[in-house]
Amino acid sequence: MSMGCPLCNGLIKVELKCLNCNGLMEDAGSLEDYYGPYSPYEEISTELAHSHEESCVHLMACPVCGWDKRVEIKKVPLPGE
Ligand SMILES: [Zn+2]
Ligand SMILES: [Zn+2]
Repeated sequence: MSMGCPLCNGLIKVELKCLNCNGLMEDAGSLEDYYGPYSPYEEISTELAHSHEESCVHLMACPVCGWDKRVEIKKVPLPGE
């Protein structure tokens, strides 16, 4: 059994209201998809170095005003593996 992000694997949905315009934010994907595991993006790599193994960070973006926010999703044991 392996650990995986429940959001990446479609097990859960995250619904988050935009703090800027109160619109419903959408999951824009895992940050790993954006920057890769060996990111040169310094802020993210230092901030998440400690928790990278246990969690997956998603970018939630507001389709209305473009505001975005990083959300840390805790990895869970994946069923069926
Ligand atoms: Zn994920
Ligand atoms: Zn918004």
